[in-house]
Amino acid sequence: MNSVNRYFVNFFKGLHSLLVGMRVTLRVFFRKKTTECYPENRKKLVMFDRFRGELVLLHDSQNHHKCIACGICEVNCPNGTIRLTSEMMTDETGKKKKVLVEYRYDHGSCLFCQLCARTCPQQALDFIPTFEHAVFTREKLVHKLNRDGSTLAPKPVAESITV
Ligand code: SF4
Ligand code: SF4
Repeated sequence: MNSVNRYFVNFFKGLHSLLVGMRVTLRVFFRKKTTECYPENRKKLVMFDRFRGELVLLHDSQNHHKCIACGICEVNCPNGTIRLTSEMMTDETGKKKKVLVEYRYDHGSCLFCQLCARTCPQQALDFIPTFEHAVFTREKLVHKLNRDGSTLAPKPVAESITV
């Protein structure tokens, strides 16, 4: 292909690409606009289902969670956002088992990748769609996710787990 032909081939390829881009631009330009009047609408504002606002350890109405302190979420977290503290306890049958003491989550360093929740063998974690998290110091973004006085759910695992 000589240089004149190549010039025209490249020209029409570029023109085609430009028109494809403009088609998208024009479509959006004439679409009905949606304006969220935030923060005036903060009480009514609903985030979309898959929005990842913050990580929570799920608890049921009896203050039970499902975390067995295996540490898989902590190991899989790419950012060191999760810090677990656990201790060994002896149950009523004399068997030793690990129990969760504290589940620390640093919201400020979370990537919202969901690796922790997806790899948890107990489905003990989930994300909730909260979205107002502004604080004045980074320390306030570090949360304890296990509630005070909460314990591991006895088997079978309690149903209707809520946040
Ligand atoms: S939340 Fe899940 S993965 Fe993390 S320590 Fe508890 S049981 Fe293991
Ligand atoms: S979402 Fe990702 S970065 Fe955040 S705590 Fe879970 S694994 Fe770590």
